[in-house]
Amino acid sequence: MKPAAALVLSALLSLGAAAAGAEDLASFHNKLGGCQTCHGASSVTAADVPDDEIDINGKCMTCHGDYKKLADKSKRFDPHNSHLSDRSPINCTVCHAGHAQPKLICNDCHSFDMKMPFADAAARPAWDDGIDEKAVAAAEAAAPRETVDVLVIGAGSAGLNAAIAAKRAGASVVLLEKHAYAGGNSMLAAGGYNAVGTPQQAKKGIKDSVDLYVKDTMKGGRGKNDPQLVRILAEQSASGVKWLEDMGADLSDVKRSGGATVSRTHRPHGGMSVGPHIVDVLRAEATKEGVGARVNSRAVKLLLDKDFKIAGAIVHGKHSGYYKIAARAVVLATGGYGQNKQMIAFYRPTFKNMTSSNNVTSTGDGITMALNIGASMTDIDWVQAHPTVGLDSRILISETVRGVGAIMVNIKGARFVNELTTRDRASDAILHQPERRAWLVFDSDLYNSAKMVRGYDHLGMLKKADTIEKLAETCGMDPATLAGTVRSYNAYRKAGKDEAFGRPDMPLGIEKAPYYAVAVAPGIHHTMGGVAITPQSELLDIQSRPIPGLYAAGEVTGGVHGFNRLGGNAIADTVVFGRRSGEHAAQYALGLKSAK
Ligand SMILES: Cc1cc2nc3c(=O)[nH]c(=O)nc-3n(C[C@H](O)[C@H](O)[C@H](O)COP(=O)(O)OP(=O)(O)OC[C@H]3O[C@@H](n4cnc5c(N)ncnc54)[C@H](O)[C@@H]3O)c2cc1C
Repeated sequence: MKPAAALVLSALLSLGAAAAGAEDLASFHNKLGGCQTCHGASSVTAADVPDDEIDINGKCMTCHGDYKKLADKSKRFDPHNSHLSDRSPINCTVCHAGHAQPKLICNDCHSFDMKMPFADAAARPAWDDGIDEKAVAAAEAAAPRETVDVLVIGAGSAGLNAAIAAKRAGASVVLLEKHAYAGGNSMLAAGGYNAVGTPQQAKKGIKDSVDLYVKDTMKGGRGKNDPQLVRILAEQSASGVKWLEDMGADLSDVKRSGGATVSRTHRPHGGMSVGPHIVDVLRAEATKEGVGARVNSRAVKLLLDKDFKIAGAIVHGKHSGYYKIAARAVVLATGGYGQNKQMIAFYRPTFKNMTSSNNVTSTGDGITMALNIGASMTDIDWVQAHPTVGLDSRILISETVRGVGAIMVNIKGARFVNELTTRDRASDAILHQPERRAWLVFDSDLYNSAKMVRGYDHLGMLKKADTIEKLAETCGMDPATLAGTVRSYNAYRKAGKDEAFGRPDMPLGIEKAPYYAVAVAPGIHHTMGGVAITPQSELLDIQSRPIPGLYAAGEVTGGVHGFNRLGGNAIADTVVFGRRSGEHAAQYALGLKSAK
């Protein structure tokens, strides 16, 4: 095991050991002063505890200090250090559950080449383990607990954008999130956001156009995308960047992603991952607008009225049980189904049992709920395997690594594909190589320029050596083959033409020691298909008519990406269509209200 990994392990094991020996937090605090120690009252029922846990986390801080105090920068591997900040969605009770044993949920987002204590994050928590159909029926028969203009389901990028847009348009909004924290797959996005016509592109002299963006996206999707949706994506991509920047986002850097003719993938400076950054910004903005996510609250059923218009949803809250929210409009923003093994086996049997880069939140709830009210699906069986998921892990080795210069070789050390081709083609190419896996190889220039690569190193995923031959030996490749591959690649780069595979862009050579390699294999990454929508983000029924009041955006929808999504287009999709769905939902809801 790598030293870094060993250190992480020892830190985690000591945490785990402490946790395993400890009683749960409620029992411990109860001895100190009864229920009021945490809840501020001597006797509390579950119904007194809000699902979003903002109140309870405030109580933690009254004794333990604020997050800044808890985040001890002198301890390198203390999870408080990297996760607790004013903007972090991970608060105390995400890990330190009150009435249950503490649980390390690190595996929600990270994966390690070691056994994690309490690594049961993928299992649904006890309160959320299955749906009680009788309780759903009772909630449906009862009066609504609240009435709202727009109900947004899912607090990833699409949902947060929708909630902000609807609130700004003057609607009252509730934003539901089933998980203990907001962010979904969006908070894992590493590479960037595709946009055309930004000042960032102009500054770099990049010649791009809406038509070129549309052409690249349609080509990437094998021509199966909905052209109207693609044009909206391209046309509104730059105003989406501006919308985020006005909230404080940094999207100052532009690079090129696979399948794109020019550089149009925007991301924060210094190689910082795009997803956690924009989720932080959107969460802060949503809170400012008064629409913070109501976490620990799973929507379990969409409700239609007698005229087949949307009427609201049944929600299952951690503390508050099953209840009905009446809503004039609903935005479905529940993300994809990349972590739902049954749905993958059903829709894409050839990917059965494949690892997935997705957050555990990607369980396809929105698709199931929509199917139950007669929604229409588009390209539902199209699932993208990302070519470079860390071997035997859930960690995505971002496309940026190839984009900024890494080459991809097979287990012998030979290149076999244009590294910048589309994901489906790169994945297919790896699956045709011996042992269906590959290595990404790069030098210290790339290591120093791409911050995320240092993150992979931190997790013990990189092999390193002072010469190419030694690197090959460490990785079990043939030293002469790898050395020959690197020599040829450097020569192609100097000549400005990749004679072997036609790679269009070779920003860095592999010339400066030390040299690095990381083992990769394809893993489920994106579910392109989902509910069918109109250009106004209205969700279509089985006869392709909009279901009045029901909207959808983001990975739960189909049509934007066709059969294959280009890197950087999903975040653009969530911002452009998230915002549109919120605006249209608000317009519809406010129209209904004023018509009364
Ligand atoms: C590792 C990784 C890296 C990526 N990198 C990039 C990139 O660089 N650029 C790019 O364009 N795309 C990238 N993608 C894809 C992109 O991140 C996603 O497609 C996109 O963020 C999906 O956003 P979303 O809002 O639709 O869904 P999500 O972000 O998944 O959010 C959905 C939310 O809905 C909640 N939810 C689900 N069901 C319910 C329910 N029943 N009730 C209440 N809440 C519910 C979930 O818990 C979740 O929080 C990446 C994906 C992964 C996995």
